[in-house]
Amino acid sequence: MTRTAADILQQLHADDVRFLRLQFSDILGSVKNIEVPASQFEKALSGDVMFDGSAVQGFTRIEESDMLLRPDLSTFLVLPPFSAAEGERGRVARLICDVYLPDGTPFEGDPRFVLRRQVERAARMGFEFYCGPEPEFFLFERAANGDSTTVTHDKAGYFDLAPIDRGERIRREITNKLVEMGFEIEAAHHEVAPGQHEIDFRYADALKTADNIATFKFAVKRVALEYGLLASFLPKPVAGINGSGMHCHLSLFRNGQNAFYDERAEYGLSLTALHFIGGLLEHAPGLVAVTNPLVNSYKRLVPGFEAPINVAWSTSNRSAMIRVPAKRGNSTRAEFRLPDPSCNPYLALAVMLAAGLDGIEEKMEPPPAIQRNIYKMTVREKRHHRIRELPANLSEALEALERDEVMRETLGEHVLSNFVQAKRAEWVAYSAAVHQWELDQYLDLV
Ligand code: GLU
Ligand code: MG
Ligand code: MG
Repeated sequence: MTRTAADILQQLHADDVRFLRLQFSDILGSVKNIEVPASQFEKALSGDVMFDGSAVQGFTRIEESDMLLRPDLSTFLVLPPFSAAEGERGRVARLICDVYLPDGTPFEGDPRFVLRRQVERAARMGFEFYCGPEPEFFLFERAANGDSTTVTHDKAGYFDLAPIDRGERIRREITNKLVEMGFEIEAAHHEVAPGQHEIDFRYADALKTADNIATFKFAVKRVALEYGLLASFLPKPVAGINGSGMHCHLSLFRNGQNAFYDERAEYGLSLTALHFIGGLLEHAPGLVAVTNPLVNSYKRLVPGFEAPINVAWSTSNRSAMIRVPAKRGNSTRAEFRLPDPSCNPYLALAVMLAAGLDGIEEKMEPPPAIQRNIYKMTVREKRHHRIRELPANLSEALEALERDEVMRETLGEHVLSNFVQAKRAEWVAYSAAVHQWELDQYLDLV
């Protein structure tokens, strides 16, 4: 249903909504919002709310800082109350916005605009792009004074049941809230590591999926808070156990038909699918800084924890960076196992799509699929199979990003330079810190 400003206004009044949040995302992926009271609803709906962009991370512009928030009316949502007290204070609604300059042009530093550009490029090539994400996260205890800890709040494992799984109750509560917020939840389960969970929601087009990921993270954190717990999407919060990924099941459709499926071809995969996979493999080193943007992200990408360590694809093995799940027909898709949930979902989806489309345009053929456990291969075997390494850390990833012309163009100069600058600063600060491991390893030794 396409919504009009008039019918949203009517619903705001009918539901006695007191505040309307106008949301957008900064370059690093934090959700920002400006909240307006009822007297400003009309103005907000017509896209006339202005804010000072210079205060937003990555938005800084010397020339002008006034920016406009134009709501995407299809994202309208009356938020459910997350606590009894919240319920009493009157309801809050939200709209996700695109950021515009006062002259009416889209702001090139708006991550949603970066993604929209790729979606439009796909459309010009005749494709619709879909993504089903699988965000994983940890639930941790809070200390008596409310501080965060990394003490996992249960000791259960993969698919375990309550009562061991105290997370079951909270997962259900999160699921209920997400359903109230319009999500179609496909599955929720305990993950491999203690305190680790996964909730999967239905695939959608790229823009909607990126909006959903942002909303999902907010809802998970908010419900956990009600239970006195910390929900964290940090990729590797605890060394020695699985980290949290955000696998993305990617597919292209053409005229309502899955463009990855070809009944007669090897593996049932069309040339379009193979080229898309070829493009993802080609640009993986260049895009990983965006899909895995933290210093900590690279501590997840180590052997033995179901996270990818090499640039390879497979139709069966989970150690590969891309796995093609067994389903065919309209469910044919590539599971890209590289991203983690700390990424900016708009930028991450934009670089994945751009890489795949480049593969299609340049007809990039992937090397043969690897069906073996890559963790167990020797360096020689990997070389023989043309399996490349991923960047080892954030610094190497940033260098690879800056070398990749297609990725540069995808992000655009404004996003690229602000992103790289912020991330380099993180790397420099991290490199100068003295870590516990160094003290344990060297202090007595030398
Ligand atoms: N937690 C694993 C990762 O870091 C993925 C486990 C799974 O296959 O769901 O990607
Ligand atoms: Mg999982
Ligand atoms: Mg998966």
